[in-house]
Amino acid sequence: MSAQVFHRTTCRLCDSPNVELVVKLKPIPLSENYCNDAEAGLSADRYPVDLYMCADCGHVHQLDVIDSKSLWDSYTYYSGDAKGMPEHFREVAQKIIKTYAPPVGSLIIDIGSNDGSLLRPFKDSGYSVLGIDPASEIARMATESGIETYPELMTLPLASKIRNERGPASVVCMFNAFAHADNMGEIADSIRTMLADDGIFVFEAQYLLDIIDRVLIATIFHEHMSHHSVKALTIFFERHGLELLSVERVPIQHGSLVGVVQLKGGRRKPDASVQQLLDLEAVRKLDKIETLKQFGATIEQLRERTTNLASEWKRKGLSVAGYGAARSGPTLISQLGLTGIIEYIVDDHPQKVGKFSSGDGIPILPTSELCKRMPAYTVILAWVHAAKIIESNQEYLDKGGHFVALCPETRIIGAAGNVQV
Ligand SMILES: [Zn+2]
Repeated sequence: MSAQVFHRTTCRLCDSPNVELVVKLKPIPLSENYCNDAEAGLSADRYPVDLYMCADCGHVHQLDVIDSKSLWDSYTYYSGDAKGMPEHFREVAQKIIKTYAPPVGSLIIDIGSNDGSLLRPFKDSGYSVLGIDPASEIARMATESGIETYPELMTLPLASKIRNERGPASVVCMFNAFAHADNMGEIADSIRTMLADDGIFVFEAQYLLDIIDRVLIATIFHEHMSHHSVKALTIFFERHGLELLSVERVPIQHGSLVGVVQLKGGRRKPDASVQQLLDLEAVRKLDKIETLKQFGATIEQLRERTTNLASEWKRKGLSVAGYGAARSGPTLISQLGLTGIIEYIVDDHPQKVGKFSSGDGIPILPTSELCKRMPAYTVILAWVHAAKIIESNQEYLDKGGHFVALCPETRIIGAAGNVQV
């Protein structure tokens, strides 16, 4: 089944028509569509993920938008599955409760709530919680597990309905999805509609500066439509009657921002963090087209190195596997010239083992196969967990295997540590 693609012609945050193509990338298949046979995987359609910059507000984003049904219906990424995420969400919830003291029993909403991992600690602390997530199967399971979740996209009519039925929210969160939505203007208006006068909106999203500095190309796929910067967000919130109070850089996903927002003119004063990051972004020229073009050149260099490496493996007849049927897998394979190189991917996700990757038709096998089959090289596709994967697969390395880490630079890891490329 083919997805519908719509190409935006205006900035997702400020509606300006002055958007310029800054990084041309390879089209990739939808990352979460695992197929039942290799042929279906190989024939899966590919869609663009090129990056554009808004000349007016500096926002960097993809303008090719996949219809939400194709993108979310079969989505199988569970926050609770991701290593460290439940702990991270518990800490976030505790920090919000401690710092902003929402009244106990008041309503906390999470947009893009996934399996309810962020809402659960709020519920355990006595708050009324409501999740909103268009991935219908995940939403159903979250509701069944006690976190009521509407299987819907965040829209203004839904926001009005929630406000009328449940009253104002003391906290609205958007942790999994702040980079995932095309209708950002409507989402901002929905947040404003749902928030109590002294309520706060808290979001987490990957930070453009980290994406560039650490060459996080694995994070560029169809679900991640926006790559946020503080400058563009400040302008965006202002336009929608909201105000950024603080921004904190956190190590989640190799570099994210946690931002806190209130209704414009609210009782809290913005702290120094907002201006500090605005100053840093100005020094780093984060809103300049040349900066993004340089990022594109870096990706090309990385692709050249990986492609050379892959040709050498092929020439020597070496076997190559992938580790982790992660969302970032198809992106890394396509952007770094690894198409046709990886024979199988090992992963223990019950909904992925026995299936085939979309785009390349690569079979997914359980991780126990790694030491049985002993591929000469295993490319780490679950890039976020590279260190953990290397650490927990010492047996494979001791038996002569090698891991290949791809970003921010290509590294080959053997039993004795890094091996010269
Ligand atoms: Zn803009």
